[in-house]
Amino acid sequence: MPELPEVETVRRGLTLAMEGVVIQRAEVNRPDLRWPFPDRMADRLAGQRIDSLRRRSKYILGDLSSGETLLIHLGMSGRMTVSGDPLGHFVHEHPMPEKHDHVVFHMANGARVTFNDPRRFGAMDLFPTATAEEHKLLSVLGPEPLGNDFHEQHLIDAFKDKNSPVKSALLDQGIVAGLGNIYVCEALYRSGVSPRRKAGQISASRVAALVPVIRQVLQEAIDAGGSSLRDFRQANGELGYFQHSFDVYGREGELCRTAGCGSIIKRIIQSGRSSFYCAKCQR
Ligand SMILES: [Zn+2]
Repeated sequence: MPELPEVETVRRGLTLAMEGVVIQRAEVNRPDLRWPFPDRMADRLAGQRIDSLRRRSKYILGDLSSGETLLIHLGMSGRMTVSGDPLGHFVHEHPMPEKHDHVVFHMANGARVTFNDPRRFGAMDLFPTATAEEHKLLSVLGPEPLGNDFHEQHLIDAFKDKNSPVKSALLDQGIVAGLGNIYVCEALYRSGVSPRRKAGQISASRVAALVPVIRQVLQEAIDAGGSSLRDFRQANGELGYFQHSFDVYGREGELCRTAGCGSIIKRIIQSGRSSFYCAKCQR
């Protein structure tokens, strides 16, 4: 499942092919993904220029010249593929249509952007740009982890008197938007905080120390995604999925990477999700 850094990488890749470019035609091949598509979606997209492509949490938002915003959510298995981009960032040949190519954007610059999603947990919506903040998916979101509103005092206040484990608190999208299981595990490991510790019982100084670490793990992953973007010309044009090396996520039973620790990484289930951690390094 794509997390914030992958979505940011997809956004950057799409920007190269779509930002400032008119959607000549939108091919909408089914009535819905996770939810029904908005009414007359193809008509409302056709002829509109994408003035900017931004990201809020794990949603990509394309502000259109019509005054509407296109929301794209990749869901669990959504993939965006770019072909035929005349600037040469991507493969030039358009691929043969595939099963699960649900929406295809034919751009006026010759690029083609295909949204393929076998499991259909993805979503698209269209709404007035002016009311974007009130959208049901966006209004519930806390601050962006890489933005100025996510700061030490915000997290200290959000954790105060919270009885839930810090792992669940950081996954709460109202506290911080876009953090997922992988990067919460990584940030807690790097901070030396046990995922089982109750959020309200962590000292203010340790809570404050989580903020720069969260930013750092996300930024490193975004940078890694940026390097993967440079390879797209040789690749198949698919955006956003790149090889990561995680310090703790997915490493159950392996040796902790902290020098001199010697412990084995554990996996526990918290709120139905796996938490990976070192019981010796994380308290
Ligand atoms: Zn350790």
